[in-house]
Amino acid sequence: MNILTFDIEDWFHILDNDSTRTEKEWRLYESRIYANMERILNLLDDTGIKATFFCLGWIAEKYPEIIKNIVNKGYEVGSHTYMHQLIYEQNPRVFSKDIERSIKTLEDISGQKIRCFRAPGFSIREDNRWIFDILCKLGITIDSSVFVAPRSHGGFASYKAGIPAIIQYDGIRLKEFPINYTNILGNRFVYSGGGYFRLLPYFCIKKWAKKSSYVMAYFHPRDFDKDQPVIKNLSLRRKIKSYIGISGAYNKLKKFLNDFEFVDIDSADKLIDWDNARVITV
Ligand SMILES: [Zn+2]
Repeated sequence: MNILTFDIEDWFHILDNDSTRTEKEWRLYESRIYANMERILNLLDDTGIKATFFCLGWIAEKYPEIIKNIVNKGYEVGSHTYMHQLIYEQNPRVFSKDIERSIKTLEDISGQKIRCFRAPGFSIREDNRWIFDILCKLGITIDSSVFVAPRSHGGFASYKAGIPAIIQYDGIRLKEFPINYTNILGNRFVYSGGGYFRLLPYFCIKKWAKKSSYVMAYFHPRDFDKDQPVIKNLSLRRKIKSYIGISGAYNKLKKFLNDFEFVDIDSADKLIDWDNARVITV
């Protein structure tokens, strides 16, 4: 099962960096979301592939046509929070308010019930697993934020599986669609989205995806925007992560969508026998 997802944010929604941290800074940059969304939606039109779009409430409020366009084309909308902050830097009260605002905004504009969620930067860690409780209370039944490999913004090692499973936490249950990985010399290695996808040669991605029974592909509009400005004072590490491989990424994505069959999360959810799925207590 291969699942296609996009996190809908603008090119300047870069985490872990002072000059792109909050709305105050975002106002200083030009938006490139329309052209970048058109590129993605045209490609999906051409291929007929369905995808799930995890959208920022901030984008929805500012550019409701973006969300309406996604919905009118028959795609599923999920929440990527409202303000795109690292969740482990928030407390439960702040996170709860943010996600509630995001769900309400997205539901009002899309007319869809929002039931899927992805954390910015996959920032669910062992120390902020309270997030699952809040998601459940707000009607989210599917999460796609667990990153089971080591990562600067999180990494949730105790999940111990690169496949969908039921997360059980403090009396609640949630369906989890984690990021998948391949094992190389005993290390978990992610390849199917963002900077990893842009950086790695396509023949490796293709080889690993062929071997895998589950692939969670995740992209952002900025992953394919080779004309986007470069934020000046980024750390070298963040600069590499944010800008590497952009020029070839769109053609790589075309090949990926051509070589594999993809479904959205809604279809994947129906294909899984959840009654017999693995249950992971976290
Ligand atoms: Zn994001």
